[in-house]
Amino acid sequence: MIRRVRLIILCGVFLVLSAVAFGIFLNSIYRLPVLMYHSVDYTSDKKDRITIPPEVFAKQMKFLHDSKYNVVPLDKAVSYIAQKKRPPSKTAAITFDDGYENNYKNVFPVVKEYHIPVTIFIITGMIGKDGYLNRKEIKEMSDSGIVDIESHTKTHLWITGLGDKVLEDELEGSKNTLENMLGKKVDYLCYPMGGYDERVKEAVRRAGYKAAFATKPTRLLPVYDLYEIKRVRISPAANNLFVFYIKLTGYHAFFRVVMNDYLDIHSLFPKGKK
Ligand SMILES: [Zn+2]
Repeated sequence: MIRRVRLIILCGVFLVLSAVAFGIFLNSIYRLPVLMYHSVDYTSDKKDRITIPPEVFAKQMKFLHDSKYNVVPLDKAVSYIAQKKRPPSKTAAITFDDGYENNYKNVFPVVKEYHIPVTIFIITGMIGKDGYLNRKEIKEMSDSGIVDIESHTKTHLWITGLGDKVLEDELEGSKNTLENMLGKKVDYLCYPMGGYDERVKEAVRRAGYKAAFATKPTRLLPVYDLYEIKRVRISPAANNLFVFYIKLTGYHAFFRVVMNDYLDIHSLFPKGKK
């Protein structure tokens, strides 16, 4: 009888410890989901990985609204990360890169309707060029309070190879242009094509940015480094709402990296090779 009781207690302790360990593990791999969009439009190019159709985007925003997701402005997302605080469940943030004109036509009306705050990272050298937002559209969206405008450098170069002066100009030039145009502080940057290193991060901090956004599908970025905040790419595959939901869990980045490593291992042993 005593042996049986001891066994039950032992099993209980094991289960509790396992649950605690699992909880700690989940906490360690969680990243606040910051979604990364680019273009929202129709395209006939099957290889286009950055454009999603307007009705898919509208469906995703409706899902966030109906499922009561807490979509926060970038300021709030950054403050959670700065305080090393895990946000309440169903918290997410939304960003757009490059400043395509279709963001005004196909994104702005939808996010206004659902009151979903979003950020657009603008390449200031492209403002008003064919296919890109013009000053009037950027100003109108910024003044609405629903769209936050931030910087994506001046000319979208691969910045790790730039000399100090050009790098400084890319970072400070775009920040100054947007601040003068909009009469507000521009605190955030996203790296063109995801390129950055420690020198670039330091230059970004020196230029006065409070945080910078990145994406690296092959590497699990630090949880709390404000100058390489992980984002989740929303590609045409997220047309499926279940895929979209998985990307919003905060665990997607971890499993994506694990999956990449798994595929890498397998690529070392190609099928059919003896
Ligand atoms: Zn870009």
